[in-house]
Amino acid sequence: MTSFIIEREKIEQNAREIISRAGDATVFAVVKGHGYGFGLSEYVSILHTCGIRHFAVTDVSDALEIKKTELPDTDILMLRSTALADEVSSLVENDVILTIGSTDAAVAANRVALEKEKLARVHIKVDTGMGRYGFAPSDPEQIVSVYTSFPSLSPCGIYTHLTSAFKSRRVTERQTDTFLSLCSELEARGIDCGMVHFANSAYLFRFREPLGNAVRIGSAFTGRIVCKTRRSGLSRVGHLESNVCEIRWLSPGSTVGYGGAYTAKRAVKTAVIPVGYADGFCTEKTRDTYRFRDGIFYVLSDIKRILSRKRIYVKINGRHARVLGHIGMTHTVCDITDIPCEIGDTAEFDVNPIYVSRDIYKEFI
Ligand SMILES: *Cc1c(COP(=O)(O)O)cnc(C)c1O
Repeated sequence: MTSFIIEREKIEQNAREIISRAGDATVFAVVKGHGYGFGLSEYVSILHTCGIRHFAVTDVSDALEIKKTELPDTDILMLRSTALADEVSSLVENDVILTIGSTDAAVAANRVALEKEKLARVHIKVDTGMGRYGFAPSDPEQIVSVYTSFPSLSPCGIYTHLTSAFKSRRVTERQTDTFLSLCSELEARGIDCGMVHFANSAYLFRFREPLGNAVRIGSAFTGRIVCKTRRSGLSRVGHLESNVCEIRWLSPGSTVGYGGAYTAKRAVKTAVIPVGYADGFCTEKTRDTYRFRDGIFYVLSDIKRILSRKRIYVKINGRHARVLGHIGMTHTVCDITDIPCEIGDTAEFDVNPIYVSRDIYKEFI
């Protein structure tokens, strides 16, 4: 059977590293996408035992699932601004902190809170480049009106989301400068901004300063952040495990997989494992070449990969078995000529949990 193994200890170690880097700032664990693929209830309770009390999601259903765990003293922040009445209604009902990124969202939240006779806690979202949600920083009047014109809303935080912390200091500083001057302007007008946050994983691990008084960290808990992580103190969490289901000898000249991409030059002993890209193995984010320079970047990284002849491996009995030919939808074939291996032995695949199918059994160890 194929299962995704999640090492509790590594999550705890990553959490310690994140909390220590955040210093005095409150850590929001971003657990969108069903906990970055780890699932929610178990993952969230591990983070809770590490001292995390603030969680952030982008789906109403995820917020409600966390709520159901009934972990004490926790707050949940919905990161998506929404003006959809039914979404706002379940969020307010469950005391989830709302994101207000537009006057429409403020109107919707205020109406629902009034009906339910509640004071809805909200964080205000400012758009400094992400272009999804948020008020324009050039128009502070609209933001001020969220503080002053909606009696059933209680704004207790303000934030923005960085577009390029994994690669560009210049773009990142432009965003943080714009955002922090807006916050100073609000404070100067007598508004208490409450929690001020913008740092994501890449920012926390590359820049650190300035930090605001809260940070929103997702991928760093999984140990898989998109910038260089050497000396980050993080370790990659999670791997797929399956069993070798066939062992065969291929004679010289035999090919493996679609397109016959691999040809055996000598007799090769192979193991077949029932895991493929449908399970999340070697599925990368799609490439969009929106800008000419993105296209150039992809070509250069392909050339680099070809030159370094980077190969893909599967771990069997503690040894690295090279993958032969293209990975199939549900199959991988690898070379075990020099590796002691029997049918039924465990094969380990390094897979980012966000690509692992939700149907695969998740085991926490
Ligand atoms: C996903 C997300 C984060 C966390 O990003 P990481 O890079 O995974 O740490 C923070 N804020 C918002 C709004 C997000 O959508």
